[in-house]
Amino acid sequence: WDDRAMKPLKDLLEKHSNEIAALILEPVVQGAGGMYFYSPQFLVAARELCDRYQVLLIFDEIATGFGRTGRLFAWEWAAVEPDIMCIGKALTGGYMTLSATATSTPVANTICGGEAGCFMHGPTFMGNPLACAVASASVTLLLESGWQEKVKGIEAQLREELAVAASFPGVQEVRVLGAIGVIEMKEPVDMAVLQKRFVEAGIWVRPFGRLVYLMPPFIISKKELSKLTKELLAILKE
Ligand SMILES: *Cc1c(COP(=O)(O)O)cnc(C)c1O
Repeated sequence: WDDRAMKPLKDLLEKHSNEIAALILEPVVQGAGGMYFYSPQFLVAARELCDRYQVLLIFDEIATGFGRTGRLFAWEWAAVEPDIMCIGKALTGGYMTLSATATSTPVANTICGGEAGCFMHGPTFMGNPLACAVASASVTLLLESGWQEKVKGIEAQLREELAVAASFPGVQEVRVLGAIGVIEMKEPVDMAVLQKRFVEAGIWVRPFGRLVYLMPPFIISKKELSKLTKELLAILKE
């Protein structure tokens, strides 16, 4: 952690906080922006700055939520709560489309205290009962599944089995956090060629840019994960 990392945000809020409604962050893991992992201390400092400048803090936990980083929500690494949190994806275990926006009590009260008395943004299928029932069931299954041990096991196995890739000539860096394994290449990968090879090898991996990454389901077996890493490394080595 380097305190100087906060300077750009601090300067921005100092100058523009009166025209900024909120700061949106993907906590601890930046996903499509590069699969970067960063220090939870950033969230602590960002929370302080947002409080100081009265800017709402929004965490996008759509990719990181529900145990993916080893905590139920990634913000738990920093013990910092957002004012608004976006969740999706693992909310239903992928069985139905559903996403949700959770807010703190003051934010909810502010919205409900408005003229309409509720949040007047209504997509046609908002709050779909079947999707909500699936989410409820899926979250219950997750919470009763012993996911902490599963994620720890996946993390240890990814660390062990992906480490060798760091010595491949085309590889820039290998990084693992929770049930996320990232191999960052030096050059953008040829998606068309790679994906064909992956499928031929019986694995399903979707790289993008310079990133080849794994975010396996927590129910994956040790053997299945080994197949995934083994075939992946063999193809990347080629
Ligand atoms: C997938 C993803 C989204 C998009 O979520 P939708 O529910 O499809 O709108 C947003 N943020 C992150 C971090 C994601 O991984």
